[in-house]
Amino acid sequence: MSEMNWDLSVLVKSTEPERIKERLAAMVADYAKFAEKYRGKIEGLDPAGLAGMLKAKDDLFLRYEGVMTFCSLAFTADQSDPVANSLNHASSRAATEADQQTAFMAVELGRLLASHPSLIDEPCLRDYKHYLERYLRIAPHLLSEPEERLVSAKDRTGVTAWSKLQSKWLSSRQFHMTVKGEEKVLSMGEMIPYIYDPDRATRKATYLAMGTTLGADRLLWADALAAIWTDHLQMCKLRSYPSPLTSSLIVNDVEERTITALMEVVRKNAPVCQRYFSVKAKLLGLDRLGNWDLRAPLPDTVDRQRTWEESRDLLISLYADFDPQFGEWVRDMFDRRHLDGLVRKGKRTGAFCDTWVGGRSAFILSSYNGQVNDVYTLAHELGHAVHAYLYTRAQNPSNCGVSLCIAECGSMFGELLLTERLLAEVTSDEEKRSVLIRVMNSFVQTVYQEGFRYFFEMDIARAVGEGKFLDADAIADMWMTAQRSLYGDIEYLPETRWDWARFPHHYFSDVRFYEYPYVFAQLFVFALFRLYREQGEAFVPRLKALLSAGSSRSALQLAGELGFDIGQEEFWQKGIDQAKEYLAELERLE
Ligand SMILES: [Zn+2]
Repeated sequence: MSEMNWDLSVLVKSTEPERIKERLAAMVADYAKFAEKYRGKIEGLDPAGLAGMLKAKDDLFLRYEGVMTFCSLAFTADQSDPVANSLNHASSRAATEADQQTAFMAVELGRLLASHPSLIDEPCLRDYKHYLERYLRIAPHLLSEPEERLVSAKDRTGVTAWSKLQSKWLSSRQFHMTVKGEEKVLSMGEMIPYIYDPDRATRKATYLAMGTTLGADRLLWADALAAIWTDHLQMCKLRSYPSPLTSSLIVNDVEERTITALMEVVRKNAPVCQRYFSVKAKLLGLDRLGNWDLRAPLPDTVDRQRTWEESRDLLISLYADFDPQFGEWVRDMFDRRHLDGLVRKGKRTGAFCDTWVGGRSAFILSSYNGQVNDVYTLAHELGHAVHAYLYTRAQNPSNCGVSLCIAECGSMFGELLLTERLLAEVTSDEEKRSVLIRVMNSFVQTVYQEGFRYFFEMDIARAVGEGKFLDADAIADMWMTAQRSLYGDIEYLPETRWDWARFPHHYFSDVRFYEYPYVFAQLFVFALFRLYREQGEAFVPRLKALLSAGSSRSALQLAGELGFDIGQEEFWQKGIDQAKEYLAELERLE
């Protein structure tokens, strides 16, 4: 079974903890040298000088990427190992120091580009064009240096403090609930798993306990949220952002009209969500779904166990069928033991794929139990890996920071390949139903259950912008209205109106509109998959070109190269249409 363990030794020359710590110290020293060379001088650089600095920054990243990745991955594989802990701590500290050393770059680069925007068209900066365009987009919104210092001082005691308070307060709360006749006092973390419980009464009791406790502190939650949004809107004004969305659009490298079109399509297609909820109600044996049933597990019809080797072969063949090179890369991930699937104590839960730019490869962590869920997880993470194989071969490290909207493209596409394979192989209606339910469940969760929070945040921004006083009831009303606008006529437990209080990102300091990139990714990939169906083979090089681009072009440009305008609702409707097709098949099986 040893091949279910990953081999991280290729990342470093020596795995000796002392040698690793020496490398980390060398990294901090090298970043300090870099800062000494460029701090305060960027505005005086000519095009060749700027290209030199960006290249030096990339080289520095590549030189120490291996050791940084080694430390973080070794820790996720066994968080109880004292050596891994100490190395992870040391590497986090080194990363923070390096970040602080290079913080000047963003501000100075922004100013340079604001005064010389034509720099981005210089031939010697061709490979950094979009990287610089993104800085240019921030430039008009930067304040003067003393103002920027004031803003960061204000944030430390303001919005960041609120955000910390939310998380501390929430984790210190105790929730009283009855689980199958037994009285329990639970923390938030202990209680959350019960919202997925197969027993309906337990799920309801969980939401009841949660809502009652959150509601008791409504004054605190509402004041925190209102203060954070007021602060955000004031900063938007100060930075001349045309909309409360702007800062997130810059980070996600998308345009406002794209997100408006996307979310409009979601709103118009609320009936798709409602039709799925009817199917789910029937499957759970209910007349009507309650909002405490949204996370209910579906009676698991068919689940075939697969060994690690069986899954490996299935995944290699799946990707190879789409494109032989994809298949080779997936095989490479297994052959070089870049996957860690073994279930062990101390391992981080969940799964992820970490790009190794220097090695033009990736590492995947998951906990493999042989269920179909685990195969989906691997299909997803291997999609990330294939994406990484493509862009690390085509781009410099500066263009490997793929934005959230595009980052899930390869992975979600891989999941659809698995879905299609499983649908092709089913031998009974029951099996077919369980594949379709899985697809629709995750689609609805991403597009609608995450998506309604965008409308909620929009409503809050509008209300604060209009100077309305937001108390807890006003916020709770907006939360429920946004939910109803997509979910429609299901049953709502009154206590769930305080649910917004428990999501940390509503209180994050610099993140607003956290959810739409996931909605974007889900519909984008469904739309791409529809194109694949329409175009067949011809689509393969197009998808590869898109994935190879990394962050060297925006989503708008990339879709444009495929002949689509993502600023138009028609494009997003394609994604919905793909989901509708799965839904219709599912309804036929009832
Ligand atoms: Zn992912």
